[in-house]
Amino acid sequence: EAKKLGGNSFQVFSCEHSERQQHRLELANRLYRASEDNAFQLAFQPVIDLADGHISGAEALLRWPQPDGSSISPAEFVPAAEENGLILGIGEWVIEESLKTIKRLREAGFPDLQIAVNLAISQLWQAELVNNIVARLNDLELPPCSLIVELTEGSLMTDVDRMEGIVKEFRSVGIGVAIDDFGTGFSSLARLKSLPISTLKIDRSFLMGTPEDENAVKMVRAIAHMAESLGIQSVAEGIETEAQWRMLSGLGCQFGQGFYFARPMPEPDLLALLAKRGKA
Ligand code: C2E
Ligand code: MG
Ligand code: MG
Ligand code: MG
Repeated sequence: EAKKLGGNSFQVFSCEHSERQQHRLELANRLYRASEDNAFQLAFQPVIDLADGHISGAEALLRWPQPDGSSISPAEFVPAAEENGLILGIGEWVIEESLKTIKRLREAGFPDLQIAVNLAISQLWQAELVNNIVARLNDLELPPCSLIVELTEGSLMTDVDRMEGIVKEFRSVGIGVAIDDFGTGFSSLARLKSLPISTLKIDRSFLMGTPEDENAVKMVRAIAHMAESLGIQSVAEGIETEAQWRMLSGLGCQFGQGFYFARPMPEPDLLALLAKRGKA
């Protein structure tokens, strides 16, 4: 009887397993074709200076429009693209397009904006990554400080010594480095002091329940104060209400992004928004 049960559960498992495999294979195939066809786009979510509400920059976020109008989140397809190595080519495209956007925004009269680009961990293992980015910045005559690279707390913790070297390399050429989704990993606090990062992005999950939930507010305050005392800029992610904005500026958090201010948008919309709101 036990044997039979075991057999049954194995069958169920292997069936689900192959369905998942199938789904992953299909996704990989579609990603491959999308890379070949240049089917990706970028959306830019404004980053706001919380003290006065002006736009200080934007985060570039990958979009993959589907023929049937449906949407697939980068939170789903980026990990898939990492798994099969496609993220290297896609990531290169994201960097190139983001630099061109910085160029166009500067030419449109917004020279102080900083654009943040998410980097996948496998991109960081490319020996020439920083040199290649610097070469493109030079070609386009862009100051390195107009670019911020976002590395997740998870990537930074994978191979800490190597990561420390990469972060230092970026910083030594003047490119900003942000820790993304800060607070979702555990080992970071001890490492934070040895990493010369410029920005810490407080994960959206910390804002949930604020400002009503006192303990949640205390957590955000602790992170903002820690960043401040280390001389690191902080960006709060996922600001959805005016009350959260007020709370965060009260806690000394300098920057924020979230649906309350603006959703990720195509570059022309960002330009229009900048032109309308102006810069402080
Ligand atoms: P992330 O880097 O932490 O990006 C922030 C995510 O939070 C974005 O989701 C953004 O749309 C969302 N968001 C911003 N404000 C709010 C808010 O007020 N409420 C809520 N509920 N969400 C908000 P998105 O665009 O779906 O991206 C998901 C993740 O995919 C990103 O998280 C990042 O880890 C990854 N990703 C996106 N683009 C790229 C890319 O070009 N390269 C790599 N390697 N990863 C990327
Ligand atoms: Mg990010
Ligand atoms: Mg984030
Ligand atoms: Mg995130």
